[in-house]
Amino acid sequence: MKAAVATEFKSPLEIKEVETPQVTSGKVLVQIHACGVCHTDVHACHGDWPVKAKLPLIPGHEGVGQIIEIAGDVHHLVVGDRVGIPWLHSACGHCDYCLDGNENLCPEQQNSGYSVDGAYAQYCLADANYVVKIPDNLSFVEAAPLFCAGVTTYKALKVSGAKPGQWVSIVGVGGLGHLAIQYAKAMGFNVIAVDTGNEKLSLAKDLGASMVVDYTKEQPEAAIKDRIGGVHASVVTAVSKSAFAAAYRSLRRGGTCVLVGLPPETLPLPIFDTVLNGTKVIGSIVGTRKDLKECLQFAADGKVKSIIETAELKDINHVYARMLRGEINGRVVLAMK
Ligand SMILES: [Zn+2]
Ligand SMILES: [Zn+2]
Repeated sequence: MKAAVATEFKSPLEIKEVETPQVTSGKVLVQIHACGVCHTDVHACHGDWPVKAKLPLIPGHEGVGQIIEIAGDVHHLVVGDRVGIPWLHSACGHCDYCLDGNENLCPEQQNSGYSVDGAYAQYCLADANYVVKIPDNLSFVEAAPLFCAGVTTYKALKVSGAKPGQWVSIVGVGGLGHLAIQYAKAMGFNVIAVDTGNEKLSLAKDLGASMVVDYTKEQPEAAIKDRIGGVHASVVTAVSKSAFAAAYRSLRRGGTCVLVGLPPETLPLPIFDTVLNGTKVIGSIVGTRKDLKECLQFAADGKVKSIIETAELKDINHVYARMLRGEINGRVVLAMK
């Protein structure tokens, strides 16, 4: 099969012929129709994080397609099922976290396009228990970004504890943020978007933000506190320490700051204010199969739509370069057919 392969950290991906994986017990083989490109894929190929990706690596954790082969011991799926293979490639299923329904925290988890090969390829092997079915009326290209960007933002909003009618700020209107605004709106929250530039801020308004703040023109915490007294929750998808700090300060008392973006810095928390204001700071990482099922349904119901640009597998190095320069609005999806 054809695949994009990283053989060394920081080197360009090579498009080459590799062996199509064999179906073994508990697995399904998925013919990939589309795969979204996530910033994490670039980090994986650059060896940026303390736990390194396997090498050689086929990246991609927003792969969607059709099951073409199935192990004899898998009975809940059939050949032809339309499924996606998320970042959470598999979990152990029996640790305390898995038993609590927090499989995304399982210490034994495998990650697609990181610890096991992902979907920048014509075919991808998946764990039958961890693929998630795609609703019929959602196309492959539309569904792909929801398998990471969608579920990540939807889960962050869930753990924020915000209630319908309350104010939520979405900091960063990029690949994650543009989906976060729509999920927040669909969940009944009032949305404030924080970013800079007319293009991003008018996009945020078009997607349903009631208020936008350009952080280069006004201080987000001052603007938000002046106008509405602070937000009940903030979901930070931006990758700068200053964005996290401003989001924290824009909370009202009892508010929740949900950290999603992954800047390399640390965030010094003022203990006195955190205690007196009853502030919560929560990290949120992707989501469970149940979260994915819910988040796909929002899109199938027409309440959430990714902004998508399609590209071909052979263009991947160009897509990475543009991503690193911050030139991509929404999500690039590799269309395999
Ligand atoms: Zn991702
Ligand atoms: Zn587990």
